[in-house]
Amino acid sequence: MRLVRTITVIPGDGIGPEVIGPALDVLVALGLDLRFDVIEEVNAHRYLRDGTALSDADFARVRSSAATLLGAVGDPRLRDTGYARGVLWRLRSGLDLYANYRPARLWHERLSPLRDAARRPIDCVVVRENTEGLYSGIGGGTATGTAAEVALDTDLSTHRGVSRIIDFAFSVARRGVCLVDKASAIPHGGRLWQRCWREAVARHPRCATSHLYADTAALRLAEDPTVFDVIVTNNTYGDILSSLTAALAGGIGLAPSASLNPGTGFGVFEPMHGSAPDIAGTGTANPLGAILSAALLVEHLGHGEEAGAVRRAVAAAVAAGRTTPDIGGALGTREAGAAVLAELGAR
Ligand code: ATP
Repeated sequence: MRLVRTITVIPGDGIGPEVIGPALDVLVALGLDLRFDVIEEVNAHRYLRDGTALSDADFARVRSSAATLLGAVGDPRLRDTGYARGVLWRLRSGLDLYANYRPARLWHERLSPLRDAARRPIDCVVVRENTEGLYSGIGGGTATGTAAEVALDTDLSTHRGVSRIIDFAFSVARRGVCLVDKASAIPHGGRLWQRCWREAVARHPRCATSHLYADTAALRLAEDPTVFDVIVTNNTYGDILSSLTAALAGGIGLAPSASLNPGTGFGVFEPMHGSAPDIAGTGTANPLGAILSAALLVEHLGHGEEAGAVRRAVAAAVAAGRTTPDIGGALGTREAGAAVLAELGAR
């Protein structure tokens, strides 16, 4: 009997629907036993209308599917509301997607902002803790709106949370794992991360390991990204360092990501970029971040060969310059997606 798996698709806002189209075309072209449940209504329009970010019914559809592909969520009119967080945090915490996996690969040396890029081919992964840290929303304030105002955000670390993200990093390492923290300046959480790190290193004695403070890690990445394989770090440093690795690999437009629970198998796959309101509607958004996120999704479902084929097709389209303007091409979103499809078909 054929097992047809359901993929929930949330196109979202801004360029989200524009880049999800080509990513879906690629998924369909792979000819896998997948069906797609598209939830069009998760977007800023609905939130503006009735205040719903992600409804219980939306969440149930996500929960009952094999994986979720998401475009982008965000809207300039809703910057300081709970909208984007209401969607993304609800998915992350509701499915306990504690591992944020952000690979950065330089598909062509022309895309690198570094000198001697040919000698510095970036191929690394930032593993970002996705449910704790400064982004956990725990905090408060007093004397709001006055000169005496004090605001507090708690940088939450738990032994369970830190241990499991470090273990995940070891599970995806190819050459080695580098812990990035700032234990020198953040003593309490720093000590916890350091202890969990030592415990995990003892559990994985054969893997090469290193440790850097976050500021030094940024410096070393810009100097020579080739020395890194897997970087494991907290929510905040992971956010920042993965933007740096994306830039080193050609830009935010082609950076994929996955938020995973390795235990349950739940996963939400989405390009690293946001809704990019500045270019939404122009038809120029780069679809490669979404297409490479779709590749991560099929790999997660056990189709490693198909994921490899998508990546080779992306590499070929990039090498031929058949891309969007953000990475030096002259194609629109649809045409850049079609270029990948053509390469995929040629295989
Ligand atoms: P949000 O609030 O949803 O995060 P944002 O504009 O603040 O949106 P991004 O969407 O990540 O953040 O955009 C940052 C910059 O990168 C913008 O100038 C945007 O145009 C550009 N950008 C993002 N994604 C792409 C893409 N796929 N193709 C081309 N440019 C992109």
